[in-house]
Order: sequence, then structure tokens, then C-alpha cells
Amino acid sequence: MHAFNYHRPSNVNDAAALAAKSVDAKILAGGQSLVQAMKLRLAAPTDIVDLGTIKDLAGIKVDAKSVTIGAMTRHAEVEGSAEVKKAIPALAALAGMIGDRQVRNMGTLGGALANSDPAADYPAAVLGLGATITTTKGTHAADKFFKGLYETALRPGEIITSVSFPIPKRAAYMKFKNQASRFAIVGVFVADTGAGVRVAVTGAGPCALRLAEMEKALSAKFAPESVASLKIKSDGLNADLHASAEYRAHLITVMAKRAVEAAMK
Ligand SMILES: Cc1cc2nc3c(=O)[nH]c(=O)nc-3n(C[C@H](O)[C@H](O)[C@H](O)COP(=O)(O)OP(=O)(O)OC[C@H]3O[C@@H](n4cnc5c(N)ncnc54)[C@H](O)[C@@H]3O)c2cc1C
Repeated sequence: MHAFNYHRPSNVNDAAALAAKSVDAKILAGGQSLVQAMKLRLAAPTDIVDLGTIKDLAGIKVDAKSVTIGAMTRHAEVEGSAEVKKAIPALAALAGMIGDRQVRNMGTLGGALANSDPAADYPAAVLGLGATITTTKGTHAADKFFKGLYETALRPGEIITSVSFPIPKRAAYMKFKNQASRFAIVGVFVADTGAGVRVAVTGAGPCALRLAEMEKALSAKFAPESVASLKIKSDGLNADLHASAEYRAHLITVMAKRAVEAAMK
């Protein structure tokens, strides 16, 4: 690991100022991805801005229409929240499927979204529910946030402060996980919003993506048979030692069907 300056601001304005001041500053959330990248020398920031002591950035608020979660809220907190379980059970369940207990105790919502790992779970919920991401520079609609492999719409120095998830009529997330890391080989989030159905997939492409064909079929009839025979094209899907593009395409249909079944229960 290279030497770096370590900063521990007590509020988000100071954090944003510190992040903007240095040429190559990195925000530190739970360190679950960043520290590994630094150890492997894939990242060598000059400055680390640790959000760990900024209390305002963690916490969960639920109202009649939405669930708002602070960027520094750990996955374990979302998994265990009675309020999230009641308002959007699929979101609490998704948080509980991330990695193992240690990872869930340290990993954060903001870190997971800023990192935009192609196999991460939260991006599927953010896209599937049509969430709004609030940052130190404004807001981002989910549909315009994930830009590519480890790439988002965040500008240099921009810090995610919270994410607001609209409460759907019903929703579910199903993932076919990598048995070692538990990242998604394919994960599908299905949400019946009341004004149409949204289907978001993670693990299959460079970043989370929506499936218009499935959304159309499920908006016409929200039932497993609406997607069970839909064949997803494998062109452009990820292929690696874990699964071929064709297998991932097949898994999308299987996971989508299971998610619809679960959402209907
Ligand atoms: C063994 C292991 C297994 C895992 N399994 C899964 C899994 O099954 N599913 C899954 O989805 N994830 C999984 N993860 C990822 C993990 O859950 C974290 O969500 C992810 O690593 C981000 O970690 P973090 O929140 O600690 O952020 P960090 O590692 O601290 O930061 C990650 C990146 O986001 C930036 N960042 C952090 N917070 C903010 C913010 N508020 N605003 C702007 N930028 C920010 C950082 O600068 C950095 O570039 C796994 C990780 C490990 C180590």
C-alpha cells in the first residue's frame, strides 16, 4: 500500500471540501472494496477522507411513500430493520444476501453504489425500485446513475449522502450467487410499482441494467408465466470463469420467474 494522508472530518461539508481539495482523494466508507484495491495497488489515493464518524450519514427513515437510507448505513442494519422489512421486505432481504456477516457489518449502501461492481446486489434494488440518489452536489435518478463497469454518474469529489427508495406494491429479489464470494452471478429485482413493473438485473452486464421486454410482459400480466418462456439474448452479457454469457442469459429468465413468484406470495 502507498502512503496517503488520512482525514476524519466530523461533517459532510468538511468531507466534501477535503475530497475536492486534493487531486486524488478517495472517500472511505466501510473499506470493503477500497482497502483491497489499495492493497493490490489498483488504487493509490493521495488522501483518504473517512466518513466513519459522520453520524448524519447513517440511518433509516420511512414515510408513507418511501424508505430513505443514509449512505453510511451498513448492510446489516438494513437487513435487520423492522421498518424496512415492513415497507420493502425485498430490500431488507437483499441486504441480508450480501457477502457474509463481516462484510454486512462493515459494507455500506453508499460504498456499494459508488463502487458499481457489476455483480453487486444493491444496484439491482436501486434500479428496480427507481430510487433517487442524493449527493453533496444534487440528486441522481437511478436510471441515469450506473454508467458502466465500476463507473457511475458521480463527479470527482461528489459524496453520496442518502438513497430514497419508493415503496412498491410488491417486489422481490432473487440471486444465483457465487458460492465463494456470494456476489451475484445473476440477480434479478422485480418491482410492481403500481404504475408499471420494473425489472433490474445485476451480474449479467458491465453494470446493473433494466429489461424492457420483461417489464412490458409483466406490466401486461404480473405472473411467472409472463416471463418463463422469454429468451434473453446473450450478446454483450458477461462471460468469465464462473458462467458463460449463455448461462447468464438463461439465469436471468429463471431468477426473474422466481422473483415474480416470491413477490406474489
Ligand atoms: C468478501 C466480500 C464479499 C462480498 N460480497 C458481496 C455480495 O455478495 N454482494 C454485494 O453486493 N457486495 C458484496 N461485497 C461488497 C461489499 O458489500 C460492499 O458493499 C462494497 O465492497 C463497498 O464497500 P464499502 O461500503 O465498505 O465502501 P468502500 O470500500 O469504503 O468504498 C468503495 C468505493 O466507493 C467510494 N465511496 C464509498 N462511500 C462513498 C460515498 N458515500 N459517496 C461517494 N463515494 C463513496 C469509495 O471512495 C470507493 O471508491 C463483498 C465484499 C467482500 C469483501
